[in-house]
Amino acid sequence: MTGKTHDLAAVTALGVVFLRNPINPLRLSTAIVCLIANLIGGITPDIDQPTAPFWRNLPIGNIFGKTFGRLTGGHRFLTHSILGVGLILLAAHWLLVFLSPIMGQIDIGYVWWAYAIGVASHLIMDMFTKEGVPLLIPIPYKFGFPPIKALRITTGKWVETLVVFPGLLAFNGLLVSRHYQQILEILRRIGSSH
Ligand SMILES: [Zn+2]
Repeated sequence: MTGKTHDLAAVTALGVVFLRNPINPLRLSTAIVCLIANLIGGITPDIDQPTAPFWRNLPIGNIFGKTFGRLTGGHRFLTHSILGVGLILLAAHWLLVFLSPIMGQIDIGYVWWAYAIGVASHLIMDMFTKEGVPLLIPIPYKFGFPPIKALRITTGKWVETLVVFPGLLAFNGLLVSRHYQQILEILRRIGSSH
């Protein structure tokens, strides 16, 4: 999957979880940082890919990307497994605790959850691609859905661009229309929370 699709999937997953478990009251600052953390989470597992959007935006990103890719065993290895994700989320927890003195009233617990939802959505989306995901590393088996490889999609090809991405957009549209009043109420509360 491309970074764009991963980020849309991450936000979609965040929206679904949030609408089921609304945070009340939600501060504007927490909401914004949660959204950013969620978007970063959505592309984090691809840091093992030298051309990942994560690295492409850094001037020396390519070198770092290649080194990191080698360290983590190449694309779709450790960062695409339950073990790797556990380590990533632990590191994210430490980073947030470390940064908490300068985070003001931002609730880092929610930020961590938003990040975790982004990371989890990445693995789920990659399971729909031909390459599959090595969830149980060190067991090298790659999981995919549907289990028959030929029925899965190829990253960046027309199914992703013309079906998956618009499908996610349509799902978001449906989600917003179904929860329209609830979303308005949330936005109103955010607006009056500071
Ligand atoms: Zn990936």
